[in-house]
Amino acid sequence: MAYDRDNIFARILRGEIPCDKVYEDEFVLAFNDINPQAPTHVLVIPKGEYVSMDDFSEKASAEEIAALMRATGQIARDIGVAQAGYRLLANTGENGGQEVPHLHFHLFAGRSLGPMLAQ
Ligand code: AMP
Repeated sequence: MAYDRDNIFARILRGEIPCDKVYEDEFVLAFNDINPQAPTHVLVIPKGEYVSMDDFSEKASAEEIAALMRATGQIARDIGVAQAGYRLLANTGENGGQEVPHLHFHLFAGRSLGPMLAQ
């Protein structure tokens, strides 16, 4: 899938739409989800134009990949959920139910999150 520069996260990255920022560095932005599905629901995104994990892993630099991984763990520590636990989820493509075509990890926390998939 080609990257759509008008997707909502691209617009947030360009500053055209506000976000409730949790973390930012050279390669990564994280912000609270507008429609939280758990007491803590943060979205962690690379700043580069990547649709999915398969796209990111193929095209991103080692620096970008390391930055996203390091930032995700750091955010979990910084917001205080590392001890009690959390869930990372990347919906991908049609079968994965991805709505926004810019790679993002959902970080859910703040309560017991139940089974991994709806039964
Ligand atoms: P997904 O279905 O994995 O693509 O998730 C997209 C997520 O983006 C959903 O959880 C939405 O609630 C969230 N979302 C959409 N627009 C915004 C926005 N402007 N700010 C924060 N989160 C958003």
